[in-house]
Amino acid sequence: MAYNFWVFKNLKYEKHTVSLLNNIAIFKGRTFDGERFFENAEIGINAATGLIDHVDELHSKALNDITLMPGLIDTHIHFFGTDSPRLMDWVLTSDALLAVKSVYDAESLLESGFTTVRTMGDKVSLDLSRAEKLGILRGPRIISSGYSIAATGGNDDPKFLPYELSKQFSYSYYCDGPWECRKAVRLNVRNGAESIKAYASSSFVGGGEIRNELTPEELSAIADEAHAAHLKAAAHAYGSSAIQNTIDAGFDSVEHGLGLTEEQAELMRKRGIFYVPTLSTYKLSENSYEERREVIARHFEKEVSIASNAGVKIAAGTDLLGTASKPLGLNSLEIIYLSEIIGAESALKSATSLAAECLGLKNTGSIKAGYRADIIAVNGNPLQNASSMKRENVLLVVKGGKTVKNQLNSLP
Ligand SMILES: [Zn+2]
Repeated sequence: MAYNFWVFKNLKYEKHTVSLLNNIAIFKGRTFDGERFFENAEIGINAATGLIDHVDELHSKALNDITLMPGLIDTHIHFFGTDSPRLMDWVLTSDALLAVKSVYDAESLLESGFTTVRTMGDKVSLDLSRAEKLGILRGPRIISSGYSIAATGGNDDPKFLPYELSKQFSYSYYCDGPWECRKAVRLNVRNGAESIKAYASSSFVGGGEIRNELTPEELSAIADEAHAAHLKAAAHAYGSSAIQNTIDAGFDSVEHGLGLTEEQAELMRKRGIFYVPTLSTYKLSENSYEERREVIARHFEKEVSIASNAGVKIAAGTDLLGTASKPLGLNSLEIIYLSEIIGAESALKSATSLAAECLGLKNTGSIKAGYRADIIAVNGNPLQNASSMKRENVLLVVKGGKTVKNQLNSLP
């Protein structure tokens, strides 16, 4: 049997937190099930199926100060496989180093409590996703968007390279016109992508003015083709005009979403479009984006609240890259930053049940009978102290019913 029974032996806390009964591993403690908090609950995991067997609220007092919750989900990351913050290195890092570094990053994600991530454009995640499915990668489940889809000469086109070389080394497919866009979606689908990512605008990385990139016609073609393959379509959108194009084209999520207006938030709520504000990337690059300070301040002070007040569903996505300044493994920072704006409970929903919905995953992101047994335990109560979500406080990680990290016995 694939289940790690041994992990539960020799545990000081066995009788409080973890025990085994007829192949059902029982976890007890304060629980956030993806929707709400219970002071104490019992969660049973079926060792044979890797699914959650039962969840029962308990009316006794929890014996430990830990919180059980669904494995965390980051809906927006990249595996760039280099410490460097420069586009040149993102495209020119050797395939071997990219792979090895990304395996290390995948492990970091799992150690920090992330059991599912979605990639938004890189050269390695289709293969990482395959390796994870084969059981040979110690990392989260990876929903890969394959190569991102971008306009020729766009933000992520390293223009210091001759065009043909840039095309060859890029992590984007450069497309012009709706049919080239459809072809790029089809190539990604052919290669195993489980999500589609497009650029509706430029970003801060390339410097200069923010401008729209893929046109409304191109964006519509991408969303249509993604939906024909039953995949979610996500668009990078900086500026109100790019956000509007993204909404009009029928995308499922607005990524970054700097410049969101109240009217747009209302439209997004009506159409069930997710908002992924990627707060972590701006916090972690405060210094390099000094000249953009006002735009970023508005994002933190107004836009996330505009979305939340309008009832738009917000999903946690960090836009961490695996570089030295945006390392993978710090992803729970997004929950901490979101907590400061929308409150801890909503922030946790954004990184669990809502993130799963954003990715179209039906049996993931909640602790419910029949769902995948992706469960973590953190030290303390994140409702009272957001730092409970920091990597060092993640004491237990169970993914698909297998225990992949267990430090419960380090509790005092
Ligand atoms: Zn990104």
